Amino acid sequence: MDEVSTDIRLRGLSPQELRKIDSVLPYTRFDAGRLHAYGTPADALWSGGHPAIVFFPQRAVENYRDIRRAFARHFGSSMSVHFALKSCYVPSVLRALRAAGAGVEVMSPFEWRLARRHGFAPDSVVANAVRRDESSREDLLGSGAGLIGIDGREELDALCATARRLGVRPDVTIRISAFATGTFFGGNSKLGTPVEDAAELVEAALRSPDVGTVGVHGHQLRKCVDPEQFGAFAGILGDLATDVSTDRRPVGIINLGGGLESRSVLERTGVTCDDFADAARDGLRRTRPGLRLVLEPGRHLVSDAAIAFTRILGTKHTAGTRWAITEIGTNVLAPFSDRAYPPVPLRWEEDGSWHTYHVSDGIAVPEVLCLNAPLPDSVLASGLALLDCGAYTTTYSELWGCDLPDLAVFEEGAVRRVFGPEERARMLASLYGDADAGPDIDPDADAGPDRRAGG
Ligand SMILES: *Cc1c(COP(=O)(O)O)cnc(C)c1O
Repeated sequence: MDEVSTDIRLRGLSPQELRKIDSVLPYTRFDAGRLHAYGTPADALWSGGHPAIVFFPQRAVENYRDIRRAFARHFGSSMSVHFALKSCYVPSVLRALRAAGAGVEVMSPFEWRLARRHGFAPDSVVANAVRRDESSREDLLGSGAGLIGIDGREELDALCATARRLGVRPDVTIRISAFATGTFFGGNSKLGTPVEDAAELVEAALRSPDVGTVGVHGHQLRKCVDPEQFGAFAGILGDLATDVSTDRRPVGIINLGGGLESRSVLERTGVTCDDFADAARDGLRRTRPGLRLVLEPGRHLVSDAAIAFTRILGTKHTAGTRWAITEIGTNVLAPFSDRAYPPVPLRWEEDGSWHTYHVSDGIAVPEVLCLNAPLPDSVLASGLALLDCGAYTTTYSELWGCDLPDLAVFEEGAVRRVFGPEERARMLASLYGDADAGPDIDPDADAGPDRRAGG
């Protein structure tokens, strides 16, 4: 464990960072010794009871405006930012991003319906998928989805046929796999076409009379903290676009995907969106003028737009380590090997005793929430805030092991619970039976006239 714990992204905040928490996450601060978010004390956001994740849609909007501003310095109005929906489905966050002008990126018919339901106009949607069924293609093309991501020759042919039949010419991008290592990123991946084979596919799209503007698309599939790496990635896509473009039919769109770390994590490591925008400009310097740039950030917009609050169940000491065991579970705060959910005390204790804790939940899985977090021992009684809980937490939550937390949103100066005990009980009872109803489940209770699935 110690060999990874030097990575700033896995480690807790230092006492200096904690004391000036607003320098890590500007909407938070300690005021009169109490943690505040957007000027509201933590105890007005969380009762101190059941664990909760509180979303701050305003921060997602601030992050959206920041990445837009940074890239617009180089790409002007010929660029658009589409929030990757799968990172967060919380309606208030979606509404706020849409109202601020963000587009949305969806990766399935389910997400397309969700985006439409929450008011995203069809032309603001980038719709990606590996394959689709015909009704999904018809729905996207018939509704005028803004940009259709195509992954592979079969889907290109199928989409062209649907477009021809409907009499529309959609803008499309061809997904490229830019990394040649491993089965997930490279040649054997389900996602994308290896860059060395991609020219032929992009040229086929450029030749087709059935599509409008043709672009190339890549997604880094990583939590990038290195602008140079991002610039190299942009360069791979840009060079491909330049190589296959002709004067009559140039590649007109580059979609650089998502894959940027949380804004506050990036800024903690000393880089900003401006550095990534500069790197993209450098990587794309050989491309033709008039190119449209598309970005699909998920984590970067919403990761630091939510804070979790949890009680501490207790401690566990082993030789040289102290664990603080949280009530909130890794079934919701999905563990990643390259990032953490840094804990912050709810009260600042200058004089109290401090120790360095590893933080995780109480279930028998070898996951962690954060390593080496210096904390005042008072958190054991009062509970903790955990930062960076907005991306891939509610959407990736697993329905096992630990209770689900409450979910709440902070809007217009007030907190509002959107998922609480009743919603949780109803959802879980339908799946697993009512765990709180006591023993004696009737084994035939779910019998009905037609018990088949898939109706
Ligand atoms: C998941 C995904 C994104 C967003 O990724 P982040 O790492 O959250 O920025 C963007 N584009 C595509 C195609 C994706 O699958």
